[in-house]
Amino acid sequence: MRDQKSPHTNKDIEQLVTENARLNKILQVLMDRVEQEMDQQQDSFTIFQTAIKLEETVTQRTNELKDLNNRLMKELEERQKVEEKLQIAKKQAEEANKSKTTFLATASHDLRQPLNAARLFIGSLADADIGAKNAHYVARIGNSLDALDDLLSILLNISQLDSGGIIPRFCHFYLQDLLNRVVPDYVQSGQERGLDIRMVPSSCIVYSDPRFLETILRNFLSNAVRYTKKGGVLIGCRMRGGKIIIQVFDTGIGIKESQLDDIFEEFIQVHEDHTAGGRGIGLGLSIVRRVSELLEALVEVRSTVGKGSMFSIALPQGDDQKTTRLYIDRASDAALSGNFTNRVIVVIDNDEDVLEGMTALLGKWGAEIISGISADICLAQLIEKDIIPDIIIADYHLNGDDTGIKAVAEIHTELSGLFEGPIPAIIITSDRDPKLEKMLALNDLPLIHKPVAPAKLHALILHLLP
Ligand code: ADP
Repeated sequence: MRDQKSPHTNKDIEQLVTENARLNKILQVLMDRVEQEMDQQQDSFTIFQTAIKLEETVTQRTNELKDLNNRLMKELEERQKVEEKLQIAKKQAEEANKSKTTFLATASHDLRQPLNAARLFIGSLADADIGAKNAHYVARIGNSLDALDDLLSILLNISQLDSGGIIPRFCHFYLQDLLNRVVPDYVQSGQERGLDIRMVPSSCIVYSDPRFLETILRNFLSNAVRYTKKGGVLIGCRMRGGKIIIQVFDTGIGIKESQLDDIFEEFIQVHEDHTAGGRGIGLGLSIVRRVSELLEALVEVRSTVGKGSMFSIALPQGDDQKTTRLYIDRASDAALSGNFTNRVIVVIDNDEDVLEGMTALLGKWGAEIISGISADICLAQLIEKDIIPDIIIADYHLNGDDTGIKAVAEIHTELSGLFEGPIPAIIITSDRDPKLEKMLALNDLPLIHKPVAPAKLHALILHLLP
């Protein structure tokens, strides 16, 4: 049907609708395109912006890397320099260590000479009629000389320890033997300062190196006395976990908890005020540390500032079937006199003081002494007096290339035919070289180390005399 009033036909309308739809479509496409264009433009801008940012970042990072690189190069250079310095320092330290060992070996050898003479004079005094009180003091001086000698040995040992190996000599012994030798020295010094020094007697047998253990105990005790102004020191031992623990308690100034490890380092002294007991050198506990490591013995310390400290060492238990008695009682020195009457003893030593000391000591025991600095000098006296000696005592290091072994051989050769069998001989030396010990053993020559302990010398002479 057709509407009479409208000028457009249905067809026209249809066409218009179609046209409208087409235009709408075109519009839509155009709109899409515009939007797309706009989007694209937007993206490029963002990329552009990002690119700029990226470039900035890259430049910044590159600069940072350059800086870092420069710093690393500098550090590397410095490290190389430090390393070179360290190498030089290490070499110097090694050389210093070597010369320290040589120096100590020479120094302790030289120091032992006068020490030996003093020991011999003390030995001859012990035999004299000097009264009980003086005899007690003489015995104490003897002990102090021994302690000094042991200290020298330990110092030498420590330096040898730094540059090589050193092996402790373990044995089974009664702890009380060692305590009897060590503690009285501190009772006296403690009493002088008004301190009460006590020891709880012990029947324990321990397995250790008595010389090294003595060093440790002497350090504990001398520190306990040094760092205690009032009160006292107690030394005792007890069993714990199958070990024997030796403990040294003091009522002294104490040590801060934070410093308990430091005190075992070389030259660390944690107290300003040393006036109480005189200044130490800060080496004692570092020696204790090294020596206890050698003994594989645990050292512990507990302390409360202002109240006191406890130093302890744990040792393995010894076997009572294998015990050795450690020391010959020094008091028995006095009972040794007069045994060698009518005996002739040749003494050869290039140190006049030692000769004099030896003559005094052996003379007290009744012997006739022929002494001199060389075999020739002694031989001249022997021939002049027309006597054959009963025993020869010779120092190992004589003047020049001369040795005790050569001197003994010279006397043997010169006097051979005048007596039956070789004249027994003893070599005395402060040289602790194990090679020398071996060589003397090969030559069947007994050895005594300086400083000579009179009782030991007496026992050996007695054993060797025909
Ligand atoms: P020193 O020769 O100075 O005594 P040590 O190595 O034996 O050297 O001891 C190191 C430091 O440890 C001492 O200087 C002292 O400060 C501290 N110390 C050691 N033993 C004791 C103690 N029994 N009481 C208090 N302080 C101690």
